[in-house]
Amino acid sequence: MSRRTERVVIVGGGFGGLRLAQELKDAPVTVTVVDRRNFHTFQPLLYQVATAMLDPGAIARSLRAILRSQANAEVRLGMVTGVDWDAGRVMVAEGEPLPFDVLVLAAGAVTSDYGIAGVAEHAFPLKSPQEALRLRHHVLERFERADADPTLIDTGELTFVVVGGGPTGVELAGALVELIDNVVRKDFPGLNVDRACVLLIEATDHLIDPFHPRSRENARHTLTSRGVEVRLETKVDAVTADAVHLADGQVVPTRCLVWTAGVRANPLADTLGLAQAQGGRIVVEADLSVPGHPQCFVIGDLAASREDDGTLHPQMAPLAQQGADHVAAQLERRRRGQATQPFHYKNKGVMATIGRNAAVAELPNGMRFRGRLAWVMWLA
Ligand SMILES: Cc1cc2nc3c(=O)[nH]c(=O)nc-3n(C[C@H](O)[C@H](O)[C@H](O)COP(=O)(O)OP(=O)(O)OC[C@H]3O[C@@H](n4cnc5c(N)ncnc54)[C@H](O)[C@@H]3O)c2cc1C
Repeated sequence: MSRRTERVVIVGGGFGGLRLAQELKDAPVTVTVVDRRNFHTFQPLLYQVATAMLDPGAIARSLRAILRSQANAEVRLGMVTGVDWDAGRVMVAEGEPLPFDVLVLAAGAVTSDYGIAGVAEHAFPLKSPQEALRLRHHVLERFERADADPTLIDTGELTFVVVGGGPTGVELAGALVELIDNVVRKDFPGLNVDRACVLLIEATDHLIDPFHPRSRENARHTLTSRGVEVRLETKVDAVTADAVHLADGQVVPTRCLVWTAGVRANPLADTLGLAQAQGGRIVVEADLSVPGHPQCFVIGDLAASREDDGTLHPQMAPLAQQGADHVAAQLERRRRGQATQPFHYKNKGVMATIGRNAAVAELPNGMRFRGRLAWVMWLA
């Protein structure tokens, strides 16, 4: 009697989940990718959708189309709500549970408001094409309103606040000033566009934390020279519909505040009865399997995978993709009766764009690039 084919269920068709499904193309398994959306999002370019440089279709690809030609893979649209560990089934809000032999959790991260009042209600997050498009419309609408009634500028109609000086905040702030200079200025000839301002707020004393201090300073200098007002060591106390309240007591009127200040693990992690680390990330063994559940692996933003010195890996696309490659290899090892191996993340460098013709890039060997050369590297 032939053995039943192993069923691999992957929760999330993002950078990690999709890569794993593709890596299992020739494996003797059936693969089901279950995602709450039926498309894969290239999140690093969301800021370009928000600033009208790209259309949403350019960064969202149908999961079914990507996996169409893969005979052993299928896509299931659905919101995963939990896991029945005893029965070996993934619970999905829509339809029947999904039985699995191997479960891989790759549900990513969500925006974290750190419990700050008003962020959830009034700030704009930037995690999906829909959110990016909503932000784009909101930004352009501010100029329409100010064009119709310039007195609104006095109460913050054209003050755009970006909270969080990480790579996303820096890229977005740089792209916003470009949108204003290159597009809005031409489209609104009757409006005093010089009165628009982009404010980048960061709680620590530097921007783009993963970078070398010299790159951080370069990013700050480039943004400032392009007209972004950068405020370091500035904390947000509360956000309302028409202002941001800072911890030093200052109130900045604005109708557009974008929150890029942090992420936490997808709340699905809180429902699984598994140990969690900082930011809600799921504790994993060295091989990325879950303690006590060797049939389950966690990859990408959701996993609390660590360097040898114990520091958590950075939540970036290459981590998710390398985790996927690793899990595919471990499943193959298990099929051969071999022991699994520990996961080692290879840092391939970091990069952030600061608008057209400017970027900062760093390679793991310590080489740093800035300005146009780094921007060209980003395009390559
Ligand atoms: C604005 C922005 C800019 C970024 N820029 C960069 C960058 O320049 N470089 C870089 O390396 N990284 C960048 N990142 C981080 C990078 O996108 C993430 O590290 C990466 O996407 C993590 O991959 P993942 O597979 O863990 O999760 P994701 O790619 O987020 O995929 C998670 C998937 O799970 C699905 N999902 C979530 N919950 C459920 C559920 N309950 N049921 C079913 N499906 C679910 C989601 O729909 C999604 O498709 C950026 C992120 C953002 C938000």
